[in-house]
Amino acid sequence: MRAKAFWLILVALGLGTKRHWHILVAILLGVVLGIYLPYPALANDVDSYSFIHQFFDVVGQLFIRLITMIVVPLVVSSLIVGVASLGDARQLGRMGVKVLSYFLLLMGISAVLGAGLALILEPGNQLQQGFLSQANVSGILQQLQQGPPQDLQTLFFNMIPRNPVESLAKAELVPVIIFTLLFGAAVASIGEAGRPVISFFEALFTATMKLTDWVMIFAVPGVFSLAFITVAKSGVGVFSELWLYGVAILGGLLIQMFVIFPLMLQVLAKINFMNVYRAISEAIMVAFGTASSSATLPITIACMERRAGVSNRIASFVLPTGATINKTGTTMFEVIAVIFLMQAYHIPMDPYRLGMIILFSIIASIGAAGVPSAGLITISIVLSSIGKVNLDYVAGGIALLWSIDRVLDMCRTVVNVMSSCTVAALVASSEGELNRDILNNDDKWTEVV
Ligand code: ASP
Repeated sequence: MRAKAFWLILVALGLGTKRHWHILVAILLGVVLGIYLPYPALANDVDSYSFIHQFFDVVGQLFIRLITMIVVPLVVSSLIVGVASLGDARQLGRMGVKVLSYFLLLMGISAVLGAGLALILEPGNQLQQGFLSQANVSGILQQLQQGPPQDLQTLFFNMIPRNPVESLAKAELVPVIIFTLLFGAAVASIGEAGRPVISFFEALFTATMKLTDWVMIFAVPGVFSLAFITVAKSGVGVFSELWLYGVAILGGLLIQMFVIFPLMLQVLAKINFMNVYRAISEAIMVAFGTASSSATLPITIACMERRAGVSNRIASFVLPTGATINKTGTTMFEVIAVIFLMQAYHIPMDPYRLGMIILFSIIASIGAAGVPSAGLITISIVLSSIGKVNLDYVAGGIALLWSIDRVLDMCRTVVNVMSSCTVAALVASSEGELNRDILNNDDKWTEVV
């Protein structure tokens, strides 16, 4: 009887509803199933559970693979088309400064907000020292040591590709973007002679977007599997010791989503934030399911162009750069996580250290790739800014944060995506390239999935 009702609900949901509802229901069902069927290590009956977990793990990973495979050709083609259509170098410079200023403003606000929340709520002071020393640190130390370089000079040098083809092959997006921006500007500056190159990349961009449509057919089973496996693996018990830390991060993310972005959209461009959020609902759900803003990029571009009414010129310039540079959810997370560790290990805070944490969290979030847990790895950059904090010393605390990071990562990735969409809408509006008729009328929207 229960099984029949379940299938009836599924059929009812499948008929006459839009795909984004399917994705939302898939996430919710995945979470429920994850709670009901925890991972074998957490469950009593290992055999009966392990096949189901393995199966859905494969489905989820397949979906991530499929969307990740689109990212490099998409970033290159969309940026070259975007930059070339901006015209001369002066136009490009003006637009670049405008977009970068918005990114820095939003990251600055989120860092200060995160610091305020961490200092008021003091999530690290709630922890028992004994709990810290129980954490398993071996895996995390290795990850941190393989992470990004901690000195600024190397970090900046690494942004400039030694060999762009090597960076492309390794999908290192920051050097790829630097090269592509310069290359696009060069192509635009040679006039007619550059036309074949632009036509080629225009065709590549259109074909890549078509590929995105095809891949999105798998979005429902994909996000269902990802949500199920994440919840099944992490369980919900770990949150009990770290609930205040979770509250600080989730609270800050909600403030960004429902106060800061809406205020900016309303005040600077008279845009109702709900229209933008509805337009990008698929991107929000895929960001949540995959915890990767890079992997979500193809869907983000499709939503912003086809529904939010942002021109191709703006979307193809702002969104790829945003997915790489502008991760305001991650910036806030870095600030809160580092202040949490300082509180837990009784490392004193002073105004200088606070300033450094805010500044380096912005740098670390720019340096973090748009992939799961990248923000937690780059935390070592921020820690290095407060003096010689030995990573071995705080490894127990980081391992503890690691244990609940996936769920928080899913949430901060949603904010990262929303933040770049906010900037794209603001820039499009100020350039007169926002089609409000499409943005405000969902009957004019085209399907993204
Ligand atoms: N997962 C985040 C993203 O893809 C990065 C992070 O904060 O770990 O945007």
